[in-house]
Amino acid sequence: LDPTTNGYNSEEIDLEKRLRPLSFDDFAGQDQILENLKVFVQAANQRNEALDHTLFHGPPGLGKTTLANILANELNVGIKITSGPVLDKPGDLAGLLTNLEERDVLFIDEIHRLSPIVEEYLYSAMEDFKIDIMIESGPNARTVQINLNPFTLIGATTRSGLLTAPMRARFGIASRLQYYTTELLTSIVERSASIFKMPISMEAAIEIAGRSRGTPRIANALLRRVRDFAQIKGNGTIDIEIARYALKALNVDAHGLDEMDNKILLTIIDKFKGGPVGLSTLATAVSESSETIEEVYEPFLIQEGFIMRTPRGREVTDKAYKHLGKINTNIQRG
Ligand code: ATP
Repeated sequence: LDPTTNGYNSEEIDLEKRLRPLSFDDFAGQDQILENLKVFVQAANQRNEALDHTLFHGPPGLGKTTLANILANELNVGIKITSGPVLDKPGDLAGLLTNLEERDVLFIDEIHRLSPIVEEYLYSAMEDFKIDIMIESGPNARTVQINLNPFTLIGATTRSGLLTAPMRARFGIASRLQYYTTELLTSIVERSASIFKMPISMEAAIEIAGRSRGTPRIANALLRRVRDFAQIKGNGTIDIEIARYALKALNVDAHGLDEMDNKILLTIIDKFKGGPVGLSTLATAVSESSETIEEVYEPFLIQEGFIMRTPRGREVTDKAYKHLGKINTNIQRG
């Protein structure tokens, strides 16, 4: 089970869609971001203008796509959805842009993966709502400028460090999504269970929430698996016993850490005596890029107190040793 990847089958994608909040009121958490967005949306609606271009960044599964859809709903406009790697030719982008109605939202997921040519093409669209289109070919080839309807670009990225400075500068609104507390995830699990019409005890919801790595997508994915166990091995309701049984059978980590989280901690302990170790040395040792470790994995490990960032590098804490069942020889010596 790897709920952070997109390796879902179509039924699961469908379920995920059903669980997606559709309005500001359905969306739990990220209070500060939501409060600001409500103001910006209301102001744009009052002036009948397009919302400023908006960037969401943060680790996977925290609600960037969900927020983009909610913004379109709250603006009462249409949304077109694409992603950086899919848009490989300026022509594809031109097709999307020229089909946008006034104030529509264009959502580009993984916007850090746009090719430089497409990215540059996007600049004038974002800034002046104009694009150049090449017509005809050969000796008659020429470009004409087309006016676009004012629109809102919403970009999402897990790797804001990889965004170019000119791209970043073109977003009037930028928000970093945070991991969710267990309380918030509990309420998300309860909401999802009620959409499935699956009775769940509060204890069971807390148990699932606590193992979801601060991430709503993981919480929903675990809930779906626990629901299967409750249906087949239990009595059709999710109580704490069936939740514990299912989570154990699924081999879900007690703190919700995933394989890479555990690999990072183990590597610091086994290869670097618990640290401190520099980011790039650590990245090489676990065969991952420094940026991904810094933006995707480390924030959760730091928030949960497994890793400390010190001036000399990353160090694991006692909690990490305990979690992995290792003995902290550094402490014994000290
Ligand atoms: P990625 O960057 O990997 O695409 P994402 O940040 O766009 O991830 P979403 O696809 O928006 O994440 O969210 C994943 C799932 O989590 C959604 O289907 C939605 O049901 C649920 N979800 C996300 N945020 C919330 C929230 N605040 N309240 C309730 N459910 C949420």
